[in-house]
Amino acid sequence: MKRKSSLYENVIEQFNKAADAMSLDPNIRKILRETVNEITVHFPVRMDDGSIQMFRGYRVQHNNALGPFKGGLRYHPAVDIDEVRALAAWMTWKTAIANLPLGGAKGGIQFDPKKHSPRELERITRRFTYALGSNIGPEYDIPAPDMNTNPQIMAWILDTFLSMMPPQERQSSFHIVTGKPIESGGSQGRMKATGQGLVYILERWADDEVFDLSKATYFVQGFGNVGSWAARLLKPIGAKMIAVEDQSGAISNPAGIDPDELLEYATKKGKISGYPNAKVIDHFTYMQTVADIFIPAALESQITSDTAPLVNVKLVIEGANGPTDSDGDRILRERGIHILPDILANAGGVIVSYFEWLQNKRREYWDLEEVDSKLHRKLIKAYVRVKETAEEYETDWRTAAYIVALRRLEHVYKERGIFP
Ligand code: NAD
Repeated sequence: MKRKSSLYENVIEQFNKAADAMSLDPNIRKILRETVNEITVHFPVRMDDGSIQMFRGYRVQHNNALGPFKGGLRYHPAVDIDEVRALAAWMTWKTAIANLPLGGAKGGIQFDPKKHSPRELERITRRFTYALGSNIGPEYDIPAPDMNTNPQIMAWILDTFLSMMPPQERQSSFHIVTGKPIESGGSQGRMKATGQGLVYILERWADDEVFDLSKATYFVQGFGNVGSWAARLLKPIGAKMIAVEDQSGAISNPAGIDPDELLEYATKKGKISGYPNAKVIDHFTYMQTVADIFIPAALESQITSDTAPLVNVKLVIEGANGPTDSDGDRILRERGIHILPDILANAGGVIVSYFEWLQNKRREYWDLEEVDSKLHRKLIKAYVRVKETAEEYETDWRTAAYIVALRRLEHVYKERGIFP
């Protein structure tokens, strides 16, 4: 679905609402509205047939007042400067809410990775890393996976970056990127981290609301890293997935779709369409699925003035970044649908990325129990901060989440002052 307005304008609308509510210092408001650096690179890559193709890549560094820039890389035809700006700003708020010593950034390449062979993907990734050069760095700006990027791609970035460094510095630079394969310095639990975090938040919300998750029904949009992990982790709790949509279309089965079986099918076929134990439905029927919970975990701007009136659930928990635009947000709230916002609900990924970065710096390996328990503790603290702030300001949770982030950033700017 096409975006109606600029995604960054949407971020600024959310930001302004929170800044007004908390009376953010007007000078700090001026700083945080803007990004720090915006890098656009054009680079040539040799295709398998010997021809040369040009690519456009971005890295937007929104803010590093709290620590090094941090955020994923996306490979998608819709990647543009506006989208990357918005995603970078959301990273700044997310790391601040989670109390991490990190800032916010995001990047990507505007192309469809499905149209390229694995060898071409490797060359595109390596040449992009080379083009970014010292604009990224283990103590400066640390990329990670996002849509259509994965541990293999992070391993190529690592290898290329290390190859560009003096030999003496290579062993101490593995934290240039997170979301790496375990053997190349990745962390236990990073693959499932975003889905796991979402489930931790959902469990806590259900406890607070005295809502029985074991009898809940839900539907999910996107069955990639975030969507499929959330679904697989909800299975042992007993929640029933009754509809799924990915790029290939939507399917439904009121009796339940088994996440593990669907993942096996989707891994084999590269898509969910054709899955035998569900019927095909169109997008609008899918959006009208009657369930307890909707988990958007694909693209941004999916819940809009067109689709928000169709949504028929108690709770939307945002696995994707920016799945709800300003109109969609207002309509859901008017209809009494609770929203657990992206910058809280999907923060599990960056939290475990931070753990990976720390392990690499300290040359440690943590086991899965340690990662999961630390993730749980950090996320629940963030959840409580957002909940208490929503109560204090009598506002919605998205605005409250922004207030938590902006308070921390405001504090740091006031303490340190503005140079010169
Ligand atoms: P992914 O590439 O693993 O999966 C994306 C999924 O979305 C795929 O199933 C794809 O088919 C589906 N999709 C694409 N276009 C669609 C469309 N038009 N309609 C329906 N489905 C569509 O990506 P991911 O890492 O799971 O990321 C998904 C979302 O979660 C993104 O918004 C991303 O920014 C956000 N997120 C990811 C992480 C992470 O750790 N990977 C962390 C925080 C937030």
